[in-house]
Amino acid sequence: MGVHIDGVGNVRGWRPGWHAAPLVVLAAHLDTVFPAGTMIRVRRENGRLHAPGISDNACGVAALLALGEALNAAAVRTTGSLLFLGTVGEEGEGDLRGVRYLFEGAERIPMISAFLALEGAGAEGIVHHALGSRRYRLHVRGPGGHSWGDFGAPNPIHPLVRTALRLMSYPLSDTPRTSISLTRIAGGEAINAIPQTAYLDVDVRSTSAAEIARIERYLRESLERAVGLERARRRSGGDLGQLEYRIDVLGDRPAGVVPPEAEIVRIACEVTRWFGRTPRLECASTDANLPIARGVPAIAIGTGGQAGNVHTLQEWYAPEDRALGLKRALLIALALVGVS
Ligand SMILES: [Zn+2]
Repeated sequence: MGVHIDGVGNVRGWRPGWHAAPLVVLAAHLDTVFPAGTMIRVRRENGRLHAPGISDNACGVAALLALGEALNAAAVRTTGSLLFLGTVGEEGEGDLRGVRYLFEGAERIPMISAFLALEGAGAEGIVHHALGSRRYRLHVRGPGGHSWGDFGAPNPIHPLVRTALRLMSYPLSDTPRTSISLTRIAGGEAINAIPQTAYLDVDVRSTSAAEIARIERYLRESLERAVGLERARRRSGGDLGQLEYRIDVLGDRPAGVVPPEAEIVRIACEVTRWFGRTPRLECASTDANLPIARGVPAIAIGTGGQAGNVHTLQEWYAPEDRALGLKRALLIALALVGVS
């Protein structure tokens, strides 16, 4: 297997089959939600392994290596080829940059037939629905001034508050399930000064890409209108200057869905049943979001065992039916890539 690290830091391991196609990617993210330097020594207690990241995603990374070793040990020749991929930047502000590089970067691979993300514990869940999110920072800046002497000068906080109120009254529904969270608001320099800068952070999530796009239009139009209102306010004194605004997209995880009748989902369900388990179709945000949104058949699955307190320092993993989880992942991968 030829292994190399690509331009963004992903580890790529090629396992060629008889043919170049179908090309199936087996992926596990290498990063965790914890800052570098976090104590990750594993503590064993009552059959459980305790450490931050032990399930999400040490579990997936170990499974990725185990699948490669199993194929080599049994000298399995596949019909198509496999790409074993350890991705960077899956969690939080990483914003899927590793998997994005695979599909959109300088070393992108155009002919990916299927994408299987190995993620955490469990042997029943099949993530086929990608929960999308977009995060925005709304910046407004103005001339500032004395809160009394310059009163009437345009105030950057005013349009942000008007925009926040409009977002709070946006008609949200349960289908598609959608959330708009105002997560941070800050600005100003002193209690007795009209601020020169202010910003508002907004986190939008939805199972529907169309709904996220609709909310983005609403957000942009709300801020534009609110800034217009503030610019038009009656002002005392001379012309101190005007407001400027900018919207930065801080994060973008595209939403999408692979239909339950798609081959990749049917294979995953059948294999799960073959092991006597009940498949459960799920919606989550994973490395599979990117291929799903691009129309590439993709799912994310657990790799066996059980886990708890994920994304906390108290994270634990119990490797009870680990072997079953690994076999399930291996069979799904082989069904997708073909065996000669
Ligand atoms: Zn994860």
